[in-house]
Amino acid sequence: MNLNEYSKSFSDEVSCVAHFKSVRDKQRVVCIKCGCKKQYWLKNQSIYQCEDCGFRTSLMKETILENSNLSIRTWYQCVLMVWATKKGFSALEILRQPGLKRYEPIWYYKIRRIALWIFYPPQ
Ligand SMILES: [Zn+2]
Repeated sequence: MNLNEYSKSFSDEVSCVAHFKSVRDKQRVVCIKCGCKKQYWLKNQSIYQCEDCGFRTSLMKETILENSNLSIRTWYQCVLMVWATKKGFSALEILRQPGLKRYEPIWYYKIRRIALWIFYPPQ
């Protein structure tokens, strides 16, 4: 995949969520409450629901993006910026949005992890 293909493939939130989900599905999402491996996908809410007990798990739960308030697309955009500029920290510019008050170095670490997730999905 080159830069152009990347930006086309992940041009909106829907395509980024779909990609993120496809990687999670390969890993098998397991219900943290009962251990069941069968999960419904509630598309409108981007949430998995356990077939056995009904417990709901967010798409980002137990991933590097757990607890992130940013959209998945924002993270995918950050990866693109790191890749395109080869100056990692400039990617943090995208995170200077209203509502994001604190500078968090952890972001750069997360961006690198997400890049690995995208290009070398966990098996
Ligand atoms: Zn369950």
